[in-house]
Amino acid sequence: MTNLATIVGASAQRNPAGVAIKMDDIELTFTALEVLSSKVAGLLAARGVKPGDRVALIAPNIPQMPPIYFGILRYGAIVVPLNPLLKSREVAYHLKDSGATLAFAWDGVMAEVVPGAQESGTEVIAVDADFMALLAGAEPIPEVALAQKDDTAVILYTSGTTGRPKGAELTHENLRSNAEVSVSLFNSQPGDVIFGGLPFFHIFGQTCALNSAVMAGATVTILPRFDPLKALEIIQRDKVTIFEGVPTMYIALLRAPGRENYDLSTLRLAASGGSPLPLEVLHEFETVFGATMLEGYGLSETSPVVTFNQLDGIRKPGSIGQPVAGAQLRVLDDAGNDVEPGAVGEIAVAGPYVMKGYWNNPEATAQAIPDGWFRTGDLGRMDEDGVYFIVDRKKDMILRGGYNIYPREIEEVLYEHPAVAEAAVVGMPDDVHGEEVCAAVSLKPGAVGAEDPEALAAEIVEFVKARVAAYKFPRRVIIMDTLPKGPTGKILKREISVS
Ligand code: AMP
Repeated sequence: MTNLATIVGASAQRNPAGVAIKMDDIELTFTALEVLSSKVAGLLAARGVKPGDRVALIAPNIPQMPPIYFGILRYGAIVVPLNPLLKSREVAYHLKDSGATLAFAWDGVMAEVVPGAQESGTEVIAVDADFMALLAGAEPIPEVALAQKDDTAVILYTSGTTGRPKGAELTHENLRSNAEVSVSLFNSQPGDVIFGGLPFFHIFGQTCALNSAVMAGATVTILPRFDPLKALEIIQRDKVTIFEGVPTMYIALLRAPGRENYDLSTLRLAASGGSPLPLEVLHEFETVFGATMLEGYGLSETSPVVTFNQLDGIRKPGSIGQPVAGAQLRVLDDAGNDVEPGAVGEIAVAGPYVMKGYWNNPEATAQAIPDGWFRTGDLGRMDEDGVYFIVDRKKDMILRGGYNIYPREIEEVLYEHPAVAEAAVVGMPDDVHGEEVCAAVSLKPGAVGAEDPEALAAEIVEFVKARVAAYKFPRRVIIMDTLPKGPTGKILKREISVS
C-alpha cells in the first residue's frame, strides 16, 4: 500500500515548477513541498521520533502546514491535527489521549499550547519566523516510508455524537482513496485553483481541498481564517476554479456587501458539504455566481466523502447524491435491519473510506461499527434512483407529543423568509408535549422589520405556521446577531440554549 505522502513526489515529478500551495504572495511549488517535507522528516529523526509515534500539528491554514503534514506522514509517523482555537486544557487532553510526543504549533497559539503541552509532557516546535531556518538546517530524508494496508496516517479528533472528542484513526489507504474520489468527482486537473478556506485540520478541507489538489497537481490557495470579502478577493485574484465550503460560507458570500464588484467568472464548481445546504442557497448561488453547485455528504470517520451529486451524472438539488465509487450505504432501523426502500432510517456505511476505529477506544469502536457497518448517526432515505437524502441527525430530531419533527424541514422554510440569513431549529423542553420547536435565526443586512425584533419574530412564526403542519411550527423564534459556529462554519446547535 502506498504512503499518502507519495502524492507529493508524484506531482513534483510531473510538474516540478507547478504551484502547489499559495497564500497571497507566498508560493510553494510541488518541488518545494517535496523538499520541505523531506526536511520535516529529517527534523523528526533528529528529535528522536520513531515511525508510528504521534505528532500533533496545531495550526490554521498557513503555508508551513502542508509541508509539516506530509513530512510527518513521509517519515511514517502519525499526524494528529488539532484546532488552533483549543484552550490549554483541551490541548492537554488531546495530546495525552493521542500520546503525542512532539507537537508543531503555530506561533499565534503558543500561549495555550505551551501550558497544555507541559501537562502532557509533549515537546513543542514553534512554527514561527525562525521555522524555515530550522528546517533549512535539517538533514533531508529523501525516501518515503512504506505504509502497510492498516497503517494509521492521521488521528482526527471528532466530537461525534456523544461524549468527549474521540480520535478517528484514518489509514493511508482511507485518505488516499478518498482524495482520489474528490479528484474524479471535481475532475480536478493541473491548472485548477482550489479555494483552501476550509481548515485542513478538519477532514473536509484536508481530503477534498489539500490532498485532492496535491494529487491532481492543482493549486490550493489558502486562507487562514474565512472572511467572505477576502474570499471574493482571492477568487478573483487567483482565478479560483473550484470552491469548497460549508453552507454558512456560501451564505456569507451571497450576503457580502459589494460582491457584484468582483469578477468570479473563473469559478466552475462549488462543492458543499458538512451540513445541509438549504435549497434556497443552492439556487441563489448558482444564479448569482454562475457555477454548478454540488452537495455531498461525509464524516470524519469516513475520510470523509461517501455520497455526492455528480457533474456529469445524476444530480438532484436537495439530495446528497449517490454513493461514490467504493462506498456502500444502507438505511437501518433501530434493530439494525434494512428499512423498506424510501423509508427513513439511520445511514450506515461500509467500504474503503471507513476508519480503522477510534484510537485506544475499542468500546466506542464496537458501538460505532458493531458488524462491519459504520453507524453515522444521521437519518436519511434513498429514493427510486438510488439517490440519498439526509433527513436530519438522529440526535437533533425533536419529539413533540409522540410526533417526530425533523428540524431540517423547518429550517428550509425559514430560509425562504426574506429577512432570514441563517436558521437553526432545536427542541426546547415543554411540560405538555415533552419538547416544543424553537427556531434561532440571524437576519440579512438591512432586513425589513429588523427595527422591531419582537414583531418580526412573531411574523416569522406566522410565516412558518402557514407552510407546515400545525404540530411542527416553532412556538418561539429567537433573533440572534449571529448563530454559534464550529471551526468549519457549521452551526453548533448544542450551543443554542433555550429554556
Ligand atoms: P464531521 O465529522 O465534523 O465532518 O461531521 C459529520 C456530520 O456532518 C455528519 O454526521 C452529518 O450530520 C453532517 N453532514 C455532513 N454533510 C452533510 C450534508 N450534506 N447534509 C447534512 N448533514 C451533513
